[in-house]
Amino acid sequence: MKLLYCIHQQLGKLKNPTLKELGTALKQFPDLSDLIQPFITDPDQFPYGRNVIYLNEHVEVLVLNLPPHVETAIHDHGQSIGCAIIVEGKLLNSIYRINDNQIERAAASTVQKGECLYSPSGLIHKMSNLQNEQMISLHVYSPPLINMSNYHERQVSETLPDFA
Ligand code: FE
Repeated sequence: MKLLYCIHQQLGKLKNPTLKELGTALKQFPDLSDLIQPFITDPDQFPYGRNVIYLNEHVEVLVLNLPPHVETAIHDHGQSIGCAIIVEGKLLNSIYRINDNQIERAAASTVQKGECLYSPSGLIHKMSNLQNEQMISLHVYSPPLINMSNYHERQVSETLPDFA
């Protein structure tokens, strides 16, 4: 598959890349709208399609298919940084912070087709597709994702022990 070849060329040699390097590499892919089509998956265990298409010691690459009016959980990326480029549609990226042991929305911005969404270390966010068309994005994380956490508006983290 041509996309996997491009990923291997552009991302496969990165070791401990910076956010900027991830974004620069993603923006260099030609004809992503066509190349990504075979890798778009339907929702299964998540309300969205999530397809890991490339994984090595340093990077993990996945394709996200967020159907119309669907959003992800509020989550972090464990120890990883990440960058995503919007290939189809657009999304609303909501950024959260923990304040007084509560999770609260701190900012939100629209990310358009061709633009990148950057996830620095420690970022907590949620992606929402408010449109009537699907949103397709290509994501790269470094190091590969491990120990991600989901958050709920009323509780800090699912991974924290219950002190009650
Ligand atoms: Fe994320």
